[in-house]
Amino acid sequence: MSAFDTARLRADFPILRTQMRGKPLVYLDTAASAQKPQVVIEAVSNFYRHENANIHRGLYELSEQASLRYEAAREKVRELLGAADAREIIFTRNTTEAINLVAWSWGRSNIGPGDEVLITALEHHANLVPWQQLCAERGARLRVAPISDDGELELDGCESLLGRQTKLIAAAHVSNAIGTRLPVKKLAGLAQARGIPLLLDGAQAAPRFPVNVRELGADFYAVSGHKLYGPTGIGALYARAELLESMPPWQTGGGMIEQVSFERSSFAPAPVRFEAGTPDIAGAVGLAAAVDYLRGVGLARIEQHEAALLAEAVLRLGEIPGLRIIAGGEQQTGVLSFVLDGVHPHDVGAVLDAEGVAIRAGHHCAQPLMKRLGVTATARVSFGLYNTSEDIERLAAALRRCIEIFR
Ligand code: PLP
Repeated sequence: MSAFDTARLRADFPILRTQMRGKPLVYLDTAASAQKPQVVIEAVSNFYRHENANIHRGLYELSEQASLRYEAAREKVRELLGAADAREIIFTRNTTEAINLVAWSWGRSNIGPGDEVLITALEHHANLVPWQQLCAERGARLRVAPISDDGELELDGCESLLGRQTKLIAAAHVSNAIGTRLPVKKLAGLAQARGIPLLLDGAQAAPRFPVNVRELGADFYAVSGHKLYGPTGIGALYARAELLESMPPWQTGGGMIEQVSFERSSFAPAPVRFEAGTPDIAGAVGLAAAVDYLRGVGLARIEQHEAALLAEAVLRLGEIPGLRIIAGGEQQTGVLSFVLDGVHPHDVGAVLDAEGVAIRAGHHCAQPLMKRLGVTATARVSFGLYNTSEDIERLAAALRRCIEIFR
């Protein structure tokens, strides 16, 4: 394993000390949601104990302090994503809402009849359905870049789908279902050559390796706080300033206006224009603590650690008779999907659960990808910074138990 003090890091996560089904919990579902370190739990709890007030409204000290904490969290997310300016960071509920924001605001101003939006065959529904709905509403067309049997995006196929009518490329940075890490710099090159924006769904990437939106050439980048070891209910969208300036609000009401009369309203500049109503202030404070934690551990080290775990899991699972690993390309990251001959993935999940091993089984919100892979569902293991070789051993033992039961 890498020179990574997992034992010390595990001590930061209280939930990892609990038992499930009478056995020590092995948590291998971090792609769905990461567990929370004590510092995040405390940041949220301290906010409610000592700092809670609504933001940007009160003239009293408590509200001023809460506003400062919220804006400091925006700055932390800016640092995490390498954006040029904190005003390019909009707080949302999660990745899904961040992508919907782009579809509603940018999309409905820029996509019309005959236009096309290009996505890939391995998108999470969060980066598929909003574009499908937009296209249906606008008389536009959704195009889907193919993937190869080994789980790679086919760049030639992707390029051949681009034309003058293409108005946006929207792609995952890392696939949540099979772990493919997409060649996003190449996608950025294709988008830039055509003068169209690139949206990246960074839900699985940002918690797993260093991300810099400017180096990547992303115009929009969406993340979820709960996958970044932060609270649920908070996420963020990075949007390049130049695009944001011309984007209309997608939700309206308090907090996002400049002037309101009964006849008309004018709106505040970004990012406030896109944050109608009271946001998840405590969530933002918790997310800031999570970003500090992640940066303290070091995303490059997390990347190395998870790569070592993945390589080890591929070896150990490869020894299990009748287990087929679904390929996630050459740069597979953090996630390992598989099927076990003669055992439905849901049954695999249930047997593993009885052994205290938490994995995900199902379509992983990527039904079209499952169809492309010729399966209805897979069992999926996903790693976090707290996983160990011992977790992989427990997983392999539980899978052997599964075979005993079903064969
Ligand atoms: N995109 C990817 C790649 C994901 O893995 C997920 C969640 O699993 C999402 C989008 C949606 O995230 P959320 O449910 O936090 O909005």
